[in-house]
Amino acid sequence: MPKHTPSTLNPRSPLVLDTRELPRRPGALRTEKRVVPAPADLGGEMIAVPEGADLDLDLRLESVSEGVLVSGTVSGRVRGECGRCLREIDDSLVVRIQELYAYENSTTDTTTDEDEVGRMQGDLIDLEPALRDAVVLTLPTNPLCREDCPGLCPECGVHLDDLPADHSHEQIDPRWAGLSQLNRKEE
Ligand SMILES: [Zn+2]
Ligand SMILES: [Zn+2]
Repeated sequence: MPKHTPSTLNPRSPLVLDTRELPRRPGALRTEKRVVPAPADLGGEMIAVPEGADLDLDLRLESVSEGVLVSGTVSGRVRGECGRCLREIDDSLVVRIQELYAYENSTTDTTTDEDEVGRMQGDLIDLEPALRDAVVLTLPTNPLCREDCPGLCPECGVHLDDLPADHSHEQIDPRWAGLSQLNRKEE
């Protein structure tokens, strides 16, 4: 029984790689360089690649006996918020990609799980799932504007960078507070 539903990939989609030009002979190589707009939600809640921002794909497609090995880098901009002080983070990101995509009906295709090894759909490769995984793995779950960000004063919410080193809030002992009220009554 065929495992595959007909290809639903659009060869013109920015993150779909077309391997028609790549001979199915182990060792055959092609490079793929393109700049594509980032898809939505590429990253996490705290930091992500803004939708539509340029993603620089610099990839190598290599025929292997059972499919195509895609490797290379994807780079782009990331924006987010510091987990300690909420300052804006505007940074760049480079992720490495190395993923094997098995030919349909190859031994790899029939003996492995789709979670372990990617699949080709005809001559097409959908790079997006691998790209998402790589980006999410590379981005920090708790991004910081800088390694030693001191964060905010828990009392007044001002960035500790902007406050003098001896910054503190006068803590009134509740017992003294009661006493000062007493004094006022006596007056
Ligand atoms: Zn910070
Ligand atoms: Zn304070």
